[in-house]
Amino acid sequence: MNIETYLLTKNPFSRPGKLLQKVKGIVIHWTANPGTSAMQNRNYFESLKSQSFTGSEVYASAHFIVGIDDEIIQCLPTDEMAYHVGAKLYTPEAVGRLGHYPNNCTIGIELCHPLADGVFTLVTWQRAVSLIGSLCKTYQLNPLSDIWTHHQITKKICPKFFVDNPESFERFKLEVSICMGENPEG
Ligand SMILES: [Zn+2]
Repeated sequence: MNIETYLLTKNPFSRPGKLLQKVKGIVIHWTANPGTSAMQNRNYFESLKSQSFTGSEVYASAHFIVGIDDEIIQCLPTDEMAYHVGAKLYTPEAVGRLGHYPNNCTIGIELCHPLADGVFTLVTWQRAVSLIGSLCKTYQLNPLSDIWTHHQITKKICPKFFVDNPESFERFKLEVSICMGENPEG
């Protein structure tokens, strides 16, 4: 799997430099920015570093961004915390399984999408399946229970395609589990 690494500069808004606790789950997002590339989204996270503390700062990042054109960019080391799923309120299921601050025990994956409907291209879907399959192996996660949508944690409509099509999300998790079985060494 070809992953390009362009780590963010350490800064309070997108790379706080705090270590993750035990990785308990993987959270899937859409960029909500139709037609943008993985690199454009990575550069957006990087640009957040130039904010000043005004009371309306944006805190955002993710560990990986899966692009439309067969590219995956890693923005953060997988042992560091990203700001991808923070909220004032979390669902009871998330609190029960991930605790009161899910950012500190989850890996965030952004998926790019061509259009505002949020439908993923086949290549984005396939790259995401293998990336997440490999992360599930590394962290000994169960793809059927430890892969989350952002929506399941905070009720945010993210990623829109899986919120609109829950059966596709179930299919996605199944494909991850099949992919893990097919690549026992990978
Ligand atoms: Zn999200």
